[in-house]
Amino acid sequence: MAERIFTLDDLTGARSVCGCLACNLGAVFAGHLTAQRTGYPGPVTTLGHRGPAPGTTAVPHFLAVRLGGGLADIVVWEEMRPQQLAAWLPDREARARVPLLASRIPRLVRIRQAIRAGTFTPSGPAGAALSTGNRYPSFRFLVEHWPTLSKEFTP
Ligand SMILES: [Zn+2]
Repeated sequence: MAERIFTLDDLTGARSVCGCLACNLGAVFAGHLTAQRTGYPGPVTTLGHRGPAPGTTAVPHFLAVRLGGGLADIVVWEEMRPQQLAAWLPDREARARVPLLASRIPRLVRIRQAIRAGTFTPSGPAGAALSTGNRYPSFRFLVEHWPTLSKEFTP
């Protein structure tokens, strides 16, 4: 599935708790995730401006938003309970990397932008998945393929 590119028109009618641009994008993205996911236990919960509740994990998602002539990456945070995290990312090893990668947003954005610009193509299964168009550099993709990406990407 190709990455969805959002535009500011997508915000028409968006409702969020505080109404700021980031929260409205979060609300629109939560609707997108809800429509895409199957078998995800419970509702999609975005964090807005609060921290994650105890026992939950803050998971970043990258939204590509078309602004003028270019694309900007915007981060929306989702709060996942343990069973939600396991449903979203079944691989235990990859799941263990989520907190570490969630603390490295700038590096992940650079990798996304390099992949998008065609200046970085990872090897092996990561590169193959991107080249067929089956995957795009979502946060989940970055977590799943982090050993390869981390080793091969030199900014
Ligand atoms: Zn807000």
